[in-house]
Amino acid sequence: MTPPFDPFIAALAAGTAALTCHGSLSAARWLSESRRRGSATLIAGNTAALGFGLWAACALEALALAAHGWPYTDVASCLVPLVLACAGQLCGLIFVSGREPDLPAIAGSALSFTAAIAETQWSTLQSDGGLLGSTAARAAALGWLLLAFIGFVAGLWLTLGRRPAAARVPRLVYVGLSTGLAAAILGLGAGVLLHGPLPRCCSDGQVGARFLAVALASLAAAALIIRELVGCFQRKLDRHAGRSQRDLAEAHARLHHIATHDPLTGLPNWNLLKSRLAAALADRHQPGRTVAVAAIDLDRFSDINHSLGHGVGDGVLVEIAHRLEAAVPAPHTLARVGGDSFELLIDSVSARLEAHAITSAMLAALEQPFIVHGEEIRVRLSIGVSVCPDDARRGDDLLAHAEAALVTSKRQGGGRVLFFEPSMSDSMQERLALENDLRRALAAHEFEIHYQPLISIRTGRILSVEALLRWRHPQKGLISPSSFIPLAEQTGLIVPLDAWVLREACRQARAWMAEDGLNVRIAVNLSAMQFRCHDVLDTIISALSSAGIEPRMLELELTESALMIDPERSASALKMLRSMGVTIAIDDFGTGYSSLSYLRRLPIDKLKIDRSFIRDLPTSAMDESIVRAIVSLAHSVGLDVVAEGVETAEQLERVRALDCDQWQGYYCCPPETAAQFAARLTDDAALSATGIRAALTRLLAQ
Ligand code: C2E
Ligand code: MG
Ligand code: MG
Repeated sequence: MTPPFDPFIAALAAGTAALTCHGSLSAARWLSESRRRGSATLIAGNTAALGFGLWAACALEALALAAHGWPYTDVASCLVPLVLACAGQLCGLIFVSGREPDLPAIAGSALSFTAAIAETQWSTLQSDGGLLGSTAARAAALGWLLLAFIGFVAGLWLTLGRRPAAARVPRLVYVGLSTGLAAAILGLGAGVLLHGPLPRCCSDGQVGARFLAVALASLAAAALIIRELVGCFQRKLDRHAGRSQRDLAEAHARLHHIATHDPLTGLPNWNLLKSRLAAALADRHQPGRTVAVAAIDLDRFSDINHSLGHGVGDGVLVEIAHRLEAAVPAPHTLARVGGDSFELLIDSVSARLEAHAITSAMLAALEQPFIVHGEEIRVRLSIGVSVCPDDARRGDDLLAHAEAALVTSKRQGGGRVLFFEPSMSDSMQERLALENDLRRALAAHEFEIHYQPLISIRTGRILSVEALLRWRHPQKGLISPSSFIPLAEQTGLIVPLDAWVLREACRQARAWMAEDGLNVRIAVNLSAMQFRCHDVLDTIISALSSAGIEPRMLELELTESALMIDPERSASALKMLRSMGVTIAIDDFGTGYSSLSYLRRLPIDKLKIDRSFIRDLPTSAMDESIVRAIVSLAHSVGLDVVAEGVETAEQLERVRALDCDQWQGYYCCPPETAAQFAARLTDDAALSATGIRAALTRLLAQ
């Protein structure tokens, strides 16, 4: 018997089934791509919509074929297929959710979706029992299920196995697949209905079957469409999140590169070198593994920068970096760690041997000159190497030892590679200890000033007193300035030191004036660095005003080289000081440029001839003629001449004969403390009793 057949409801059933199958495939794809693996809400939402769709499709088919009757007799018979439909869909989605789908996952998922169809149809039509009684019905059912399974495998394979989006499967294929799967669902139901006894019709005619079908199909369509829309929206969000994450990862990588590389040369920077060194040292347990560090510095690179400008200097640095890098095989690291400083990290079984080979290659790489703006520039390297574990085991010690070897290489003239030896770090450490000691001494007020007079040759009167710095070290005793001033100049500590001397000397001059009635100028040595400070004038003026002495009571002693660094600025600063009344003296004349023609243009008052010319005066005709020439030239431009380091009566006699204006030396007065100096003056009321007058009288009598 042919069951009553409503094509309208059947069409609704087919549409719902096709929509559901399409939904299953698209949900599987989306959940598989989704990064939010295990998001229960997402899976549950899809499961509910798809389960309801499948259930509705089966119910609609039954409604279409089974005498316009509603297939479910009670709530339980209605809910069981719904639950089974949902369970099957859930399993199908879980198989592929949040993972790269492989064949077993696809097969599992397809099997679950197929089982969902079978169970839903079965339990929908089961209500009357006795279904699939005939072999033909069983065979037909099996055929439809096989078709569904193959359809799902194919659909899932195409959907999930062909990512990314570039290899998209045409939409028509999905439509075809969904239609085929819908046919399998309906075919299965139809087969059961046609071959088995009809399910009982529960329709009482009050609710029209078509009305029921439209309502059911609409509900299912709404659920599936909502699912699809939410899916699309989520996919967009996912894509956006993916893009943001990619952008973030790219930005992070860029920032990391900036933080670990030198912007000029692109080489690793100090941070990266330190972390690679730490990693190499941590890895060193492997037998025979050694690590070497080479500190590399360009010799006299600042000359290139100064003479050709920083732009050219940068270009040369980049070229140098390329040449050096080419000499370094992987996996070793060459880093730029400062202006013209590089560090090389060698991580190898035989680091010492490799260090020899690589550093020699680096020296050779710079043998060819650089051509910049048509000029040939030659650059040399100094390299210091230390090896772990021979020289040190800690990273900081290795770096310090390489630096010590580099400093020694530079001291020996540069242009060579030196491997670390313990004696090298001793001298570095001494220097470092002295520097720390100097800082401490400044804070602990361990410095004092000794005073030495400058005396007029003609009258024997003290014209000025030079302030000479001394360090009263708690352990080492009195230290002369030649032992610490060069280091103080290198470290910049000379600036606060000189400022202190200036203040203290001015204060002392005021005290002598007030307490001893001694009215002499105070002469203060000013280092080149102090003189170059932008606030040097302020420092001088504030020292004078806080001591309460006039500028004409101050003499400043500067070396030629201090004035030569920036001649124009020097000239204007000197003019300013001179206009205030400060006396300017050139110290140690004869040891520097000795360019009187240049000095003539500067507002200065006197020259102090270096004591090396005075020492052999009585016997050296050469020194005598030099001093004579200096004196006559100085006088010709109106400068006074001071002879430094007069130790004997003969020297004093010669400088007088050579027409020097003033003298200074141990012959009468070595540098003394302020108290000693004042006592010497007051002891005999004047210098006459100290021997100067006597010496002069003797001289004049001869
Ligand atoms: P200088 O300014 O040329 O000072 C004269 C140096 O010659 C002093 O050495 C002094 O003690 C020494 N001297 C004086 N008469 C004789 C002599 O008859 N025979 C011999 N052999 N030497 C004599 P001192 O005090 O050791 O100072 C050395 C240098 O240190 C100074 O040379 C000066 O350039 C620098 N200096 C001293 N005090 C200061 C200071 O406060 N600031 C700066 N920047 N430099 C200073
Ligand atoms: Mg001096
Ligand atoms: Mg001097």
